[in-house]
Amino acid sequence: MSGHDHPLRPGESLRPVAEHARVVAALVSARPPERVRLADALGRACVHDVTAPIALPGFDNSAMDGYAVRATDVAAATDDEPVVLPVAADIPAGRTDELTLEPGTAHRIMTGAPMPDGADAVVQVEYTDGGTTTVAIRRAVDAGTSVRRAGSDIAAGDLALAAGTVLHAPQIGLLSALGVAEVDVPPRLHVVVLSTGSELVAAGQPLLHGQIHESNGAMLCAAVTAAGARASAMHFVPDDVDEFRAHLDGVVDSDDPPDLVLTSGGVSAGAYEVVKDALARDEVEFVKVAMQPGMPQGCGRYSSSSGRSVPIVTLPGNPVSAQVSFEIFVRPPLRDAMGLSRDRRRATAVLTDDLRSPPGKRQFRRGVVEPADGGGLQVHPIGPPSSHHLRYLASANALVDIPAEASDVARGTAVEVLLLDD
Ligand code: AMP
Ligand code: MG
Repeated sequence: MSGHDHPLRPGESLRPVAEHARVVAALVSARPPERVRLADALGRACVHDVTAPIALPGFDNSAMDGYAVRATDVAAATDDEPVVLPVAADIPAGRTDELTLEPGTAHRIMTGAPMPDGADAVVQVEYTDGGTTTVAIRRAVDAGTSVRRAGSDIAAGDLALAAGTVLHAPQIGLLSALGVAEVDVPPRLHVVVLSTGSELVAAGQPLLHGQIHESNGAMLCAAVTAAGARASAMHFVPDDVDEFRAHLDGVVDSDDPPDLVLTSGGVSAGAYEVVKDALARDEVEFVKVAMQPGMPQGCGRYSSSSGRSVPIVTLPGNPVSAQVSFEIFVRPPLRDAMGLSRDRRRATAVLTDDLRSPPGKRQFRRGVVEPADGGGLQVHPIGPPSSHHLRYLASANALVDIPAEASDVARGTAVEVLLLDD
């Protein structure tokens, strides 16, 4: 039997969610920073303050395609009486020699090209005839017009990014502009995902009666990757203790050992609970957590046959339980250890339907959060509470977090939701 709403044995108590979360979190450790190229830095936190090694812009340059001039030389220019100047040089972006603008002349200049010495303004091409030997200028400009001053974006020595900043596209752009090619970030923690169950068959393969397609492995690997860590998908194993341990030993003793092993299945109260049986000799505790879904949980350290020990978290097998357990117990410490925000965004939303929740258990229901007509947010609970309804999890954008003490929650009640936004 493998339903998870087992009655408690006399004297048995459930571990609160927050307590189990602390126990799991204590197993997950950060690693010393590594230096990576910017191409590998996306979504990772920078470990140190980054100060600008150079100014941006690095030199005075033109903000427009047009003509570099002395503002005084074109002070009289109008549409009716343009000022005509000889074009003494042509400065495309990328020209590296240093030019000087003689009084009474213009240089044709492109956006981003260095200003010649002596020029103090750019007349944009739209206010000229666009000439290449002489140019007729129809507008006066103030000194400084269309010139980007060296250091006007950031000065050398300024703080460019504070330690802890997560590197998204704009931050990677800034570092590149500053010529910073590498950055120190926390390593992506390596998580090995191993599913168990003799009924499992890989997606794409035909099913016999009684078999199901394996889904937890693919789902948890995706969740690990989305959390910013590095997932290794192991092929699932049948409910066989020796095969389970042999498989795990293979990765734990490899030259790329995991920071965390994540299993699913085989931890509830039935017979053939392979994970429980296989880990009986390890420092792994199996507990019932006061939560629905996800009551049967386990965690601790696995020791390979060669004696190497790694943290292991054993999630329940029902797909919704596995994924919700990952959200609640595994994702936060993984992110924390990589310098990323540990918690999902939470919000308060008004329930659109009545809910029942088992007394004494914190319930995480699948929900769709959307703006409410009168302002604020509402949450529409979808699907039943039982933990095989993957379809509803796949339609949800939030988990409704019902406190352990609540049993009947009426529509119209303000509840807390975790927003699943990636
Ligand atoms: P267990 O905890 O192993 O008894 O599994 C509980 C339920 O989850 C059973 O219906 C299993 O068939 C199902 N299950 C376990 N592991 C997986 C998996 N990797 N993919 C899909 N379903 C699974
Ligand atoms: Mg199983």
